[in-house]
Amino acid sequence: MQTCSRCYTQSSDNAIFCTGCQSDLREFSSTAIAIKEFQNNPRVELVRISVYQDACPECHAHQGTYPKNAVPRLPHSGCSHNEGCRCFYEPFLDVLYP
Ligand SMILES: [Zn+2]
Ligand SMILES: [Zn+2]
Ligand SMILES: [Zn+2]
Repeated sequence: MQTCSRCYTQSSDNAIFCTGCQSDLREFSSTAIAIKEFQNNPRVELVRISVYQDACPECHAHQGTYPKNAVPRLPHSGCSHNEGCRCFYEPFLDVLYP
């Protein structure tokens, strides 16, 4: 599932445009907004992809920490879960510099 950051309507993983407001989800899905924020934040160097316990094998295979400019796009295209990919990005902050 992709959630629109503008109107919070949920659209399927392969939707390009929000079913609620027609925004381009490649730019305005909640995950697209999140990764953009992390890429613009100099304190974030690494981004973690977090996966739910009951996620499909494809999503589990892509769980991990990536350099912020080389993070796979969410939702995972090969997801087979019946609710779709619910993975999300988490910033990996450098705790040495508060
Ligand atoms: Zn929308
Ligand atoms: Zn996923
Ligand atoms: Zn999946």
